[in-house]
Amino acid sequence: MSREFAPEYIQSLKAYSSAKSEKLTGSTWLNANESPYAKEYALNLDNLNRYPDPQPENVINAYARYSNLAGENILMTRGADEGIELLVRTFCQNGKDSIAQFLPTYGMYKVTAESANVALVDLSQALLIDAPQSELLDCVGNAKLVFVCNPNNPTGNVLPLSRIEEIVKAFEDKAIVVVDEAYIEFCEEFTAAGLIEKYQNLVVLRTLSKAFALAGLRTGFVLSNPELINTMRKVLAPYPVSSVVAAIAEQALTSCNISSVKRQVSIINNNRATLINQLSACKHVRKVLPSFANFVTIQLSDKAHIAAAMQSGLIMRPFTLYGEDNWLRISIGSEQELNVVFNWLVEING
Ligand SMILES: *Cc1c(COP(=O)(O)O)cnc(C)c1O
Repeated sequence: MSREFAPEYIQSLKAYSSAKSEKLTGSTWLNANESPYAKEYALNLDNLNRYPDPQPENVINAYARYSNLAGENILMTRGADEGIELLVRTFCQNGKDSIAQFLPTYGMYKVTAESANVALVDLSQALLIDAPQSELLDCVGNAKLVFVCNPNNPTGNVLPLSRIEEIVKAFEDKAIVVVDEAYIEFCEEFTAAGLIEKYQNLVVLRTLSKAFALAGLRTGFVLSNPELINTMRKVLAPYPVSSVVAAIAEQALTSCNISSVKRQVSIINNNRATLINQLSACKHVRKVLPSFANFVTIQLSDKAHIAAAMQSGLIMRPFTLYGEDNWLRISIGSEQELNVVFNWLVEING
């Protein structure tokens, strides 16, 4: 059997099922936390015979300005997902090391660890939120990387900066704390980027896929001190960013476009508040989790309501959380898309 060319730990993997890999048919897509604001970009394709800049200077400088850091603190990657992969491949030894995560959380930490033969230490969000430092240290044990998704996907909650700092400090000299800030633009005052100068063991992950409305571009950034950045560069492919991608990322990071992203964020945050009100008034919604990101996660009285939405072409992301399979994550789309959600709520309310 030709699959036996792969090591045992690869053969036993299940193919990752992302929001987009399942071949769903629908007309309203609110399952992948994408932005509803598509923008047009212009391209000059004259120099495609040349290899690109390994780390495009204009993009790095623009992101440095945007994040109040220096260029040496920034690594551009193919999405935050490549940042996760790079961290595991750089800092964890195959078959020996482990990473810690706080469930429920983003699924790629597990997928990446498993494909690198790195063990997982599964802890709870409750522990992350308020366990004493000593307990947190005990539970994390020897894990090399501690993944903290903030705001957390799919629960939407955010940790105060003081708690993040407490955690980073607790693990100084013991582990790298990776704060995944894929949704930080929706609550920017919570960013941990300002702590990078102060701590040697902090990495922040960012992306252009969510608030910046460029999920199709595949661009993310790893923010950290120059020593960790340079160590990761040893593992990163020599030309990870295509010149086409770099040209678009540069346009996305002009001060003019950043202002427009900020306006979109405030509209999305307002629409989220409206949706939360509507959800809270629906008798078939058992629980609405507070959210600081561009999605709301709810628990329904019956998961049959999810199937009904899917059948009508309204695609949202079902989850099993805390052992129950009636959870649903709804991305904050355009007002028109949210009206489709509202109509579904009216329908199930009968
Ligand atoms: C969407 C998401 C990512 C992936 O971002 P890409 O840049 O598109 O790879 C990373 N982390 C979290 C928590 C996400 O929700």
